[in-house]
Amino acid sequence: MTGFVFSEKPIRIERGEGVHLYDTNGTEYLDFGASYACTPVGHCHPEVVDAATSQLERLMYVQASYPNDARDALYGALADCAPGDIDRVWLCNSGTEANEAALKFARHATGRSKIVATTRGFHGRTMGALSATWKDEYREGFEPLAGGFEFVEYGDADAMAAAVDDETAAVILEPLQGEGGINPADTDYLQAVRETTADHGAAMILDEIQTGLGRTGHLWASERHDVVPDVLTTAKGLGSGLPVGATLVKEWVAEDCGNHGSTFSGGPVVSAAAGATLDVLQREDLPAHAGEMGDYLMGEVRDLLGDEVRDVRGHGLMIGVEVKRGANRLLRDLAIEHGILALPAGRTVLRLLPPLTIEREHADEVVDALEAVIA
Ligand SMILES: *Cc1c(COP(=O)(O)O)cnc(C)c1O
Repeated sequence: MTGFVFSEKPIRIERGEGVHLYDTNGTEYLDFGASYACTPVGHCHPEVVDAATSQLERLMYVQASYPNDARDALYGALADCAPGDIDRVWLCNSGTEANEAALKFARHATGRSKIVATTRGFHGRTMGALSATWKDEYREGFEPLAGGFEFVEYGDADAMAAAVDDETAAVILEPLQGEGGINPADTDYLQAVRETTADHGAAMILDEIQTGLGRTGHLWASERHDVVPDVLTTAKGLGSGLPVGATLVKEWVAEDCGNHGSTFSGGPVVSAAAGATLDVLQREDLPAHAGEMGDYLMGEVRDLLGDEVRDVRGHGLMIGVEVKRGANRLLRDLAIEHGILALPAGRTVLRLLPPLTIEREHADEVVDALEAVIA
């Protein structure tokens, strides 16, 4: 083995179908992490597989300066479903790149450099996005990062109002923090950030890379809070696991976005997969289904509240279960003893992010297993 960076898990996954994964021994796992929200419509959804496969057979790639039908269709689909009057789309290959573009577009459109980000925020690991990412553990050893970034307490509208001024290009934040521990923001807070940024002509960038695409019970978490940002970034589940991200932008930011580019922007295969994913999500009303399943699951998990389970929080199928003794042992027991794969969000939070296609029986299976491993 020659890879490095990732610490690997002792399970070798070979196949995925719907809400299940299978290892090389044929053991079935219920996937309650969706590999970090990357499979919202389930593993190997036949429509997504068909769309990508038939595109793969026709044309794998052509340089981005030629129009291609799959990309145009995705531009249209994203513009149609973007919140409010957001209607311009930039495509890239990952979440961090979607945020890099967002930061660059905001700086160029405003002619300003200052960026305000939030405590516990996570926006990616390339130099610009990392500069907006809070935790030292991600930043250590990589400094100096990009200049002009400052952090304010997540959830504190007054601190935000004090930090944003006429030199501010953008505020970047998540509507519900994922990596930071599953921390939902209040509607009042997000609306106040919207007002503050508008008052100063700064762009509000909502990072919906984890919360988007139906995860929280709405297609975009911003809809729950009735907030239309100037820039919204999405990635993770967009291509059902194929690498694609998007920066959705209001006209005032897009019209003076400067010189940005990427060789693989909107490649035909990932565009076809993303188009099919969006189509399935919307046609099957999976955001609403995620909302219902999430309410049910959270209600059941709340019954486990006690000495071991300290808090249960989230929206839709983005749920954090804060546990007393640390998440890692529970995650291992869930996987090895119960065939359930979930994720951590920091040291003490167990994160549930299943495909949006789960049914009650899957939620029940997870609640029973949780009860057993906690006991
Ligand atoms: C995962 C994530 C990113 C980074 O996306 P990558 O595709 O890993 O670069 C950025 N922001 C949020 C909120 C994320 O969850």
